[in-house]
Amino acid sequence: MTLILKVDSSNPDKGAIAKAAQIIRSGGLVAFPTETVYGLGANALDGAAVKKIYEAKGRPSDNPMIVHIADKKALAQIAEVTPSAEKLAGVFWPGPLTIVLKKKKIVPKETTGGLDTVAVRMPDHLVALALISEADVPIAAPSANLSGKPSPTKAAHVIEDFNGKIDCIIDGGSSRIGLESTVLDLTSEIPTILRPGFITPEDVRDVLGSVAIHPGATGKVDEGNAKSPGMKYRHYAPKAKMILFEGEKEKVLARIAKEAKAQKSAGVLLFDDIPGISKKIKILVGGNTSNNIETQCRIYDALREFDTRGVDLILAQGIAPEGFGLAIMNRLRRAAGYSIVNV
Ligand code: AMP
Ligand code: MG
Repeated sequence: MTLILKVDSSNPDKGAIAKAAQIIRSGGLVAFPTETVYGLGANALDGAAVKKIYEAKGRPSDNPMIVHIADKKALAQIAEVTPSAEKLAGVFWPGPLTIVLKKKKIVPKETTGGLDTVAVRMPDHLVALALISEADVPIAAPSANLSGKPSPTKAAHVIEDFNGKIDCIIDGGSSRIGLESTVLDLTSEIPTILRPGFITPEDVRDVLGSVAIHPGATGKVDEGNAKSPGMKYRHYAPKAKMILFEGEKEKVLARIAKEAKAQKSAGVLLFDDIPGISKKIKILVGGNTSNNIETQCRIYDALREFDTRGVDLILAQGIAPEGFGLAIMNRLRRAAGYSIVNV
């Protein structure tokens, strides 16, 4: 039985949070909303509890979790804090930036996938913060989806994957950003972005003065060059085959329009509307134009929606991999399994 608790994200009910926190404290699993995506949480300091996350998700045991805290001061409890970490936390927390630091002993190996580093962030979501505070332990949480599937951005997605399989799901509405956090490694000589997200390389550079981007952020990664174990796994994928069209916007849109006409049953994922394509097959993500994706991204919702509709091919519009677009293209390329057509 999965307890489903619906809460108001701007004023979460104390009784509901107390129930969920008690589940965390007693070693259970609770899915909860954050501003990026929904997380599947367990007590980060309890290896046996964290192990249940891997089992529920079908996640490879060497793929570490992000540890969520509700207070900047809690960072020192689990990681070796550096001046850069302090600066970043001061500017971006609570928010969608995860930092990787040397871990302290208190963090079990299950949480870090056997690594001696730990990834930490403080989410910008009242429900997540209330849950962590009330549980009074850091919460390890990867995205609350079955391994390999698109990340969940609303409770219905979590219910689809985990109803009956975990102890509790907190429904706090849609995730505001809709894409996982930026993961920044602070243990390398130059701070390195392992996974792009809403906080851009430019944002990090403005604070630290320098930043590198791991090649996996834009291209394919294998065993050899994966710095973060999560990078080497197939990810974010819908059931349908997906082709991503990249290049100059007008050309990309013209090509998709042509392909959609030829492949009548394909789904079409767009940032810029193509009026000639029927609403029945197209889904617009991230607003109405690719010039305007500054605040949210609905690609995961769209990928799941296409699966629900049963389409077997998705034609997707690529956008410029700049700013937040870098993160969006990282996910789309991986979701497409690198089936990319350069127009
Ligand atoms: P998820 O929360 O499911 O989006 O996955 C967490 C991401 O953070 C994965 O890509 C992990 O590989 C990455 N991550 C977590 N801990 C570490 C770490 N200690 N070093 C490098 N990457 C990490
Ligand atoms: Mg994930």
